[in-house]
Amino acid sequence: MSVAARSATIGSFSPVGSQKGSPRPKMAVRSRISTSLSVGRILTNLENSCATPLPVLRHVADAMAEDMRAGLAVDGGSYLKMILSFVNTLPTGNEEGLFYALDLGGTNFRVLRVQLGGKDKRVIDTEFEQVSIPQELMFRTSEELFDFIASGLARFVQKESGKFSPARGRKREIGFTFSFPVKQTSIDSGILIKWTKGFAVSGAAGRDVVACLNEAMERQGLDMRVSALVNDTVGTLAGARYWDDDVMVAVILGTGTNACYVERTDAIPKLNGHASSSGMTIINTEWGAFSNGLPLTEFDKEMDVASINPGEQIFEKTISGMYLGEIVRRVLLKMAEAGSLFGDPVPEKLFTPFSLRTPDLCAMQKDSSGNLEAVGSILNNTVGVRSSLTARRVVLEVCDTIVKRGGRLAGAGIVGILQKMDNDSRGLVFGKRTVVAMDGGLYEHYPQYRRYIQDAVNELLGDEVSSNVIIEHSKDGSGIGAALLAAANSKYA
Ligand code: ADP
Ligand code: MG
Repeated sequence: MSVAARSATIGSFSPVGSQKGSPRPKMAVRSRISTSLSVGRILTNLENSCATPLPVLRHVADAMAEDMRAGLAVDGGSYLKMILSFVNTLPTGNEEGLFYALDLGGTNFRVLRVQLGGKDKRVIDTEFEQVSIPQELMFRTSEELFDFIASGLARFVQKESGKFSPARGRKREIGFTFSFPVKQTSIDSGILIKWTKGFAVSGAAGRDVVACLNEAMERQGLDMRVSALVNDTVGTLAGARYWDDDVMVAVILGTGTNACYVERTDAIPKLNGHASSSGMTIINTEWGAFSNGLPLTEFDKEMDVASINPGEQIFEKTISGMYLGEIVRRVLLKMAEAGSLFGDPVPEKLFTPFSLRTPDLCAMQKDSSGNLEAVGSILNNTVGVRSSLTARRVVLEVCDTIVKRGGRLAGAGIVGILQKMDNDSRGLVFGKRTVVAMDGGLYEHYPQYRRYIQDAVNELLGDEVSSNVIIEHSKDGSGIGAALLAAANSKYA
């Protein structure tokens, strides 16, 4: 199958795209124009409307905490779904055996196996592969998407070596990380509420995604069983908690964004008293749907209208990796049209949605050369423009403005969650070491973005409290975390 053949590569981004060899658009570069009045005005307006001074951050943090409470009170009570994860115990370190994890994100899917050795040996061995999801599968049927995933998994299982020991007479068990909004119905089943992150796959919304995967595995002749269906944030929290008892919150900043945290069951009115034996559970906030009081621009609104889910996932569209590049492209297009930022005519590629991606912004911001050579070549390769030095400087300003807003708002969201927890437990969060486990390609690869998150957290919490709050990268924690949750919920235990 051609889809399978294409999947063999370990997916990753090249910062400069693939159009290196394409001819440069023939147009005159007018270096004098780039500081034109309208470009300057557009930039100033942009900076003003994206500004996140302390009062804005505070409002966002407070509103996040308030929306969380509303979503915990009753289903549908808030933009935040506050989904019950059915994960009521966290990894202890005693987990043993061979487990698999499968992670469907938005840009990539990953497969992983881990041999767990219990308290002393912990992770004996682990292997993983990452496959980028072919663009066209985002717009096909769910059978095609799940077949692609199951066949990738089947190939990976075939390569299992003697280092890993499956238990005799048992099926291999999988922790399935599925990073789209799911109404969890048990630890190993859940109904897809809707696709996000640009996916428009037909035939899965309203269905149990574990059943979709099981059917695809059957078509592939793959005899495994899904023991845990987990959101990627939940997997990240579990994976990080395996190593550190102070982990209370996990946040994903990748193609999309989401967060989860450890909640007391007595603080969840919508449970109607159905407490877990541990007295706690993990709540998947689905915070990408948050929208209260965000500083938005005309560019955000236009991008939202053009998206496949207008009016939805506004926080996600403001702070996550899928969208930052696109917002910048829209700003640059306006600067090109209204202020001739790149001379005339405006090249066709600048009109193409998503031609500028977040990794491109990151690569441009890495350029510290005097004439911003890399910025120029990235702009040329992605959106087909020739740029003067002044234009390149403007572009970097635009990137920084959008990335700063995204990072600072993400930081405010984190503080909102911690604030909610601390209010309920009177100082138990801010008064001791509390760890927020972070993962996702945006967080991992974008140092400026990371710094802006930390800045906002520090500004909001002050020096003393923020020194207790550790925001740290938990690399690929979600894969191991999902495998650990499969172990904790093993059908053979
Ligand atoms: P997923 O969200 O699909 O699970 P990842 O967590 O790997 O996948 O995140 C991928 C996203 O991270 C990309 O869509 C992109 O927005 C962002 N990203 C990847 N590399 C970089 C980079 N170098 N700089 C900034 N953002 C990046
Ligand atoms: Mg992911």
